[in-house]
Amino acid sequence: MDIPKIFNITESAHRIHDPFTPEKLATLGAALRLEPGIHVLDLGSGSGEMLCTWARDYGIIGTGIDMSQLFSDQAKRRAEELSVAGQVEFIHGDAAGYVAAEKVGVAACLGATWIGRGVVGTIELLAKSLRTGGIILIGEPYWLQLPPTEDVAKGCHAGSISDFLMLPELLASFGKLNYDVVEMVLADQNGWDRYEAAKWLTMRRWLEANPDDDFAKEVRAKLTSEPCRYAAYTREYLGWGVFALMAR
Ligand code: SAH
Repeated sequence: MDIPKIFNITESAHRIHDPFTPEKLATLGAALRLEPGIHVLDLGSGSGEMLCTWARDYGIIGTGIDMSQLFSDQAKRRAEELSVAGQVEFIHGDAAGYVAAEKVGVAACLGATWIGRGVVGTIELLAKSLRTGGIILIGEPYWLQLPPTEDVAKGCHAGSISDFLMLPELLASFGKLNYDVVEMVLADQNGWDRYEAAKWLTMRRWLEANPDDDFAKEVRAKLTSEPCRYAAYTREYLGWGVFALMAR
């Protein structure tokens, strides 16, 4: 079981697989006023940076589930490196339908809401693991400005304009589900640059190390086109943030 190989190639050197910088991740942890010992569940936990740094900085207990073998292994190594292996557990597996055996204080899904077939389904899924009064974290893109055409949306790697909302509409959508938005931390263009531009050097290095790999052609094409695509589309049109929700 694994995610498509292209992500394991392009994001192999990322610690954070979203447009947050380490500073934003720490800001989010501080904003949530996490009590030591609180249990955080993270669906699509990637390389485990959120759970590992929050275990170190805020004393949380963490469980992460991720379908990438590579990222799950990196998460375990990161936990050892930060001396928090006793506080965090990383499970390699499909998080779709995953419900924690014991209810948690924070249930998160950052940049992986397809796990619940979209934001609404992911909130429903996370709610099943959440104790009364707990916090749900959703990390999701929104339009900074509405794409003028469907082609521009596709340039942002969205399926269509309707895949994402503008920020006020996204916030309103949580209210319609009967959740209060109790905190939010938004990424900025610098964070997007870190997330996207870091892939370019990783691709270049991978190509040099794997010239005869079946994927070399695809990676070569991506490395050639990505900087301009990113600057013209994603960087101009797409925002990203983490929204903290509590049931009304
Ligand atoms: N939350 C992490 C990772 C976001 S990238 C971060 O912000 O750094 C999306 C992640 O979802 C990747 O790590 C990918 O491996 C994982 N993923 C994709 N489909 C999944 C599934 N069905 N179950 C669990 N993880 C999944």
